[in-house]
Amino acid sequence: MEEAERLQKLPTYIFAKQDKLKAEARKRGMDLIDLGLGSPDIPPPQEVIDEMILALKDPANHRYPPFDGSHEFKQAVVNWVKKQYNVHVSEEEVVALIGSKEGLVHLQFAYINPGDSILVPMPAYPAHFRGTILAGGEPIVLPTTERTGYIPNLKIIDEAIARRAKMLILSYPTNPTGATATKEFFEEAIAFAKKYDLILLHDFAYAELYFDGQKPISILSLPGAKDVAIEFHTMSKTFGMAGWRCGFAIGNAKYVESLRKIKTSLDYGLFAAVQKASIKALTLTNDYMDRMRATYQKRRDLVVEGLNELGWNIQKPKGAMYVWFPIPRGFNSYDWMIHLMEKTGVVITPGIAFGELGEGYARISLIEKEDKLKEVFARMKKAGIKYG
Ligand SMILES: *Cc1c(COP(=O)(O)O)cnc(C)c1O
Repeated sequence: MEEAERLQKLPTYIFAKQDKLKAEARKRGMDLIDLGLGSPDIPPPQEVIDEMILALKDPANHRYPPFDGSHEFKQAVVNWVKKQYNVHVSEEEVVALIGSKEGLVHLQFAYINPGDSILVPMPAYPAHFRGTILAGGEPIVLPTTERTGYIPNLKIIDEAIARRAKMLILSYPTNPTGATATKEFFEEAIAFAKKYDLILLHDFAYAELYFDGQKPISILSLPGAKDVAIEFHTMSKTFGMAGWRCGFAIGNAKYVESLRKIKTSLDYGLFAAVQKASIKALTLTNDYMDRMRATYQKRRDLVVEGLNELGWNIQKPKGAMYVWFPIPRGFNSYDWMIHLMEKTGVVITPGIAFGELGEGYARISLIEKEDKLKEVFARMKKAGIKYG
């Protein structure tokens, strides 16, 4: 049987392909240091784990939860986004998600008809354009480069293309580049979305993962944003809860409602025990996050300095948990990933995983402790890996 076109049209998911390569290498006895996935290694706050254990002991939590999140969960979100980002939403403007990836993709299913298009800056987090393709739509790439700080130039987008598009997807701090956006850019994006009647989807996965004390802003903190914008948040990165599958979307009531509507046909909501534990996380002080940021920042510095010692000349990223860097000449990013793995056992993500404009680059995830990261550079030095 042939798969549906929506699957046939999907580019290979490099992360799945890489999983196989890693398993094979381990079978051959290779000692891998895996800096491929964006999966935080810092465990959630102990209070959250304790709350989860308590919640698991309560039989009520094992039943189907309310579809779009409990009153208490949504209230915790309302308070959290007010406290952290100066964003004012009501409970109706909140929906609980089984991880934000789920929500990002389902919102596209809720609005994209076959043949519709969306605007997406590239390099991009794969779900941003893969969701559109799955829904039968077409991602229109807004090229971004290091020179422009990975911010797309909205002024040069063809009017006809902008008018035909249904959605603009942004995400700052950005995975994989670590770029952040200014208030002015967000204001321009809001005006652009209003002018061309676009849904402005902001993926704020790295809301709390920023460096040098430069806290990124929520697009919903800007005037008029709620007319067009829906913003996605995740417990995965903020509280090291990636395996728990918990996130939420906030913002424009209509878009939140559509997400609710499509989800009622697809899932039964977020595990009540996970909601309880997440409420705990959202009501803690910022100490955990301060420590987490300090840890990632030290790793960032170590990796950037390590690469620069080997001939690179890269700047420190401002947010997220990655270092994005050009690969040596003579390779494409996929081949260099394999070359590096074979020579050193170090696994990185080839830039092509983030769309065609990621070619020529690679991403290191800052998901190992400092001594492991030091070993990465010792291995690279020994193997003669350098930039040029
Ligand atoms: C990690 C990440 C997510 C989080 O996905 P969850 O499904 O919430 O775990 C979303 N967007 C981006 C850009 C990410 O890097």
